[in-house]
Amino acid sequence: MTDDQTDISAKHIAANTRDVRARIAAACARARRDPDSVTLIAVSKTHSPEAVSAAHAAGLRDFGENRIQEAAPKIDALAVRSVQPTWHLIGNLQRNKVALAVERFPYIHSVDSERLAFAINERATTPVRVFIEVNVAGESSKHGVALDEVASLAERVRGLQRVELIGLMTVAPATPDPEAIRPVFRTLQALAEANGLEELSMGMTSDYEVAIEEGATFVRVGRAIFGERA
Ligand SMILES: *Cc1c(COP(=O)(O)O)cnc(C)c1O
Repeated sequence: MTDDQTDISAKHIAANTRDVRARIAAACARARRDPDSVTLIAVSKTHSPEAVSAAHAAGLRDFGENRIQEAAPKIDALAVRSVQPTWHLIGNLQRNKVALAVERFPYIHSVDSERLAFAINERATTPVRVFIEVNVAGESSKHGVALDEVASLAERVRGLQRVELIGLMTVAPATPDPEAIRPVFRTLQALAEANGLEELSMGMTSDYEVAIEEGATFVRVGRAIFGERA
C-alpha cells in the first residue's frame, strides 16, 4: 500500500467512527440513556494492524477479535508500537487456546460452558471479565447456551475467583430487518436482569441502534467502522 492509500483509509475510518458515535448518541437519546453507558467495541477481525492503529488514532479504545490465532500476533505487533487498547474476545474459544487468550484479553464475551469458565479461572493471573453467550433464538448454527441454562451456569461461574461474570452476550440472527431482532434483545435484557447481571453485549453493524434502545452496554461494530470484510 502507498502512503496515499493508507491516508485515505485512515480518513474513512475516522469518518465512519464519527458516524457510528453519532448514531449511538441518537439511539441513547431515543432511549433516554447516557451515551457513556455504551462502550463501542471496534471489531477488527480480518483487518490489519495499520487499520487498528488508524481507528485508535480516531479515538477508539476498545477492540474486538473473534479468533485467537489471528488476534494474538496482531495484538502483540500493536503493543510493540505502543498501541494498547482494551481487547475483547468475542468469538468462540477452545479450551486449548485459553492460555493465549487470558494473557491478552481482559474481556471474554463467549463463555458458554462451565469447563471453559474453569479453564479461564485456572490460567488467568488477574481476573478476566466474562459474559455468558446465550443462543437466544435457539439457532443450531450458533454457539451459546440455551435460555434455560443461563441461571445454573451463572451460579457456577460466580464461584470462581479469577472469572468476573459481568453480563450476557448474544449474536442475533441475521435478517435484513433490525426490527425483527428487537424481541431477541429484549429477551436477553430480561434474562440479565433476572440474574442480577448489569452488562449486555449485543448489537452489530446491522442492528446496534436497536440493541442500544433495548439496553446494550457493549456494542460490537465491525463493518460500519472498517468497511466490508474481504
Ligand atoms: C464479526 C462480529 C461482529 C461484528 O460484525 P459486523 O457486522 O461487522 O458489525 C460482532 N460480533 C461478533 C461475535 C462477530 O463475530
